[in-house]
Amino acid sequence: MDEMTPEQIEAETLARLDNLEAPDWGELVGVRSLALDPKIVGALARNAGIYREAMRLVAAQGFTVRYWDGWEGRSASYSLARIVVPAAVINHHTAGNGTSTSYIRNGDPLRGLSGPLANLHVLRDGTVWVLGVGYQNHAGSNDKACYDRIAAGTAPLDRDLIPGPDGTFSANRTAVAIEANGDGGSDDWTPEQTAVIIAINAAFAKVLGWAMPHTGAHKELTRRKPGDPVMSMGTLRSLVAKAMTPADVPVTPPPPPVPASVDFRLGLWNAHSYGAARTTRAGVTGFGR
Ligand SMILES: [Zn+2]
Repeated sequence: MDEMTPEQIEAETLARLDNLEAPDWGELVGVRSLALDPKIVGALARNAGIYREAMRLVAAQGFTVRYWDGWEGRSASYSLARIVVPAAVINHHTAGNGTSTSYIRNGDPLRGLSGPLANLHVLRDGTVWVLGVGYQNHAGSNDKACYDRIAAGTAPLDRDLIPGPDGTFSANRTAVAIEANGDGGSDDWTPEQTAVIIAINAAFAKVLGWAMPHTGAHKELTRRKPGDPVMSMGTLRSLVAKAMTPADVPVTPPPPPVPASVDFRLGLWNAHSYGAARTTRAGVTGFGR
């Protein structure tokens, strides 16, 4: 494709802003800045405050928490309706022990999934990477009835929920998504992973003022993901409930910082060719303050 003008880049990017695509598929051929809707910036800042406080509680217990550059402004979609206060924590395994954090962060272009694929990535040693604070491509289509029980804190403490068929609902915009490296075997999650996942689920419950865990799993949201993860969610929920007691006063997140500016850097890439035509893609490269 011929080189595009800045105006063409901006128009292309705006057209794709609702469903951004992974920005590192090919050669960067252009970049410019654009002011983003302050309401979207405010929603990202609000969520970043929630994540910052929850992960501070986790780190204070001695767990290793690392932050990917740009995590505070990162979402797999920049539609305002898709950047909401989380109502549940959905736990996954990656179906492999060596899944890279860059894959979870950047997405999967071959499956048409913009990144991140999860808000948090947990390595086998229990290290947690914080990747994004909004919509993430982790859940696909789901059984809303099961999701509603998880988000209401009424899922059972002694067993998994059994999902019905997928509907039109997806938990992608409403949940904190945790992907933990695990291949689905008998040691699907290591003891270090299980310990930090309990701490993360309990921390979000405290920060968001939930009286019971709003903890669930991918395998409880859809019949497409049996064994994702292997651990019994009844067991996990009861361990999270224990970690929440004695009941602390709910932690109030600090007010979101007021951004000094709302620049996004917009990029245009010559992407790899997946079909007959070489395609050009646009995306956000960074989140300025
Ligand atoms: Zn999953």
